[in-house]
Amino acid sequence: AQDGILRRQSARESAARTYARALPIVPVRARGLTIEGADGRRYLDCLSGAGTLALGHNHPVVLEAIRDVLDSGAPLHVLDLATPVKDAFITELFRTLPPGLADHARVQFCGPAGTDAVEAALKLVRTATGRSGILAFTGAYHGMTAGALEASGGATDVRVTRLPYPQDYRCPFGIGGEYGAELAARWTESVLDDAKSGVPRPAGMILEPVQGEGGVHPAPDAWLRRMRQITEARSIPLIADEVQTGVGRTGRFWAVEHSGAVPDVMVLSKAIGGSLPLAVVVYHEDLDVWRPGAHAGTFRGNQLAMAAGAATLAYVRENNLAERAAALGTRMMAQLRSLAAEFPCIGDVRGRGLMIGVELVDPEAEPEPALPNEELAGPEAAGPRPAAPDLAAAVQRECLRRGLIVELGGRHASVVRLLPPLTISDEQATAVLDRLADAVAAVAH
Ligand code: PMP
Repeated sequence: AQDGILRRQSARESAARTYARALPIVPVRARGLTIEGADGRRYLDCLSGAGTLALGHNHPVVLEAIRDVLDSGAPLHVLDLATPVKDAFITELFRTLPPGLADHARVQFCGPAGTDAVEAALKLVRTATGRSGILAFTGAYHGMTAGALEASGGATDVRVTRLPYPQDYRCPFGIGGEYGAELAARWTESVLDDAKSGVPRPAGMILEPVQGEGGVHPAPDAWLRRMRQITEARSIPLIADEVQTGVGRTGRFWAVEHSGAVPDVMVLSKAIGGSLPLAVVVYHEDLDVWRPGAHAGTFRGNQLAMAAGAATLAYVRENNLAERAAALGTRMMAQLRSLAAEFPCIGDVRGRGLMIGVELVDPEAEPEPALPNEELAGPEAAGPRPAAPDLAAAVQRECLRRGLIVELGGRHASVVRLLPPLTISDEQATAVLDRLADAVAAVAH
């Protein structure tokens, strides 16, 4: 059955399909971290719907919340009308919001995908400020509908200025650490304050507190505070895209909380729907300049997704799963760093909480040129080796052979990404690391 399904779907599905190419499996059952294929094989799923499944597959509280709606006879689709299910979701969402935003927040249901909420956030800050430019960062990922805004009219003057996102490994300035981050912040300031050749005051700045698709680069807390300070001083709304980092994954309920910086706008999706599609924008009430109907959509807040989402948010909050993600993530990264010491093809291990990246490099290639100033270059004096996307793809294949599903990401597709559910047990985490270590050993020799 499995081969037939794979053959038929690859023959009829768009060439744009992605995960199905690298992961030729046919999931038929799933629970927690585990997926069972049509061929009866079991896999540990560290892709988790690209970070969507905070509680893993088919968590009992999520299933119960969905069943309750189905059994209650409640309508499944009522556009954006008020319902008890929506009421419960909003109540639970507001319980979790960062202090500083919760008391003045408005929530707007978009949907159903993260990219829809990003579009709404960009349109919101443009409407509120009357300006059009957007500041975004190198390596950023915010979704696939950038063109949709233009095609819908009214936003044909989309202008994005791309600024350097700080990163320790492959720092654009060859420095990394707090100095590299401060240089990135000063670059941003100089671009904004250059009256002649800089950018005109933009409508907003959008950033990910930890870049996910861009290769798992956590922004230093000090840099995030600098971005808050820079935007606040110039009355530029700051949008935090927490589509992937939200709901406990990075070790705090929302990743911006590590820094204490309070954004004006938060874009939320993935885990907030408890495995079903749901996306919202949360923003400061001062920005609530929409005319009724100014931003519409048929699917705004699906009832089942809101019920599954409310159950997920409550479970993560009540069981302190963010704290657990922080502790377990620290342990997993420490073990991965020991693995890196053994295998020179692992160039870097980084992440925050249970958002972890392992960058594969070519161990035989010459390191990239170092900075001339060795003192400034510090531990990176030798420079990183070139990224190795082929090795990363080979590790992904070897993982799959060993029953472990991992994602690839990064600007060079050279980063193996682990996004396990926050409910993963210590024993399961050890099994994941053992299989990954075996896979690395298999490609390294
Ligand atoms: N923002 C971020 C930070 C994301 O990681 C993603 C998806 N990977 C998106 C936006 C887009 O979400 P969606 O795929 O649901 O449109």
